[in-house]
Amino acid sequence: MARRRARAPPFKACRKCKSLVPKEATRCPVCGSTDLSEDWEGVVIVIDVEKSLLAKKLGIERPGRYAVKVR
Ligand SMILES: [Zn+2]
Repeated sequence: MARRRARAPPFKACRKCKSLVPKEATRCPVCGSTDLSEDWEGVVIVIDVEKSLLAKKLGIERPGRYAVKVR
């Protein structure tokens, strides 16, 4: 996968469901968790969950923008 330039995008990642949420958010809009991390890597955009192998691998169940790795 191509890596973007090293500028931190304005997102945080949910440790529970890996969703990317706006940096100012305090709660994940997808699963309601407040366990958000600014230390994450890689973006995967899932449009069709059924057809995405990566979505299956990451356990993603609905379309959206996700982090590949959340620390
Ligand atoms: Zn979440």
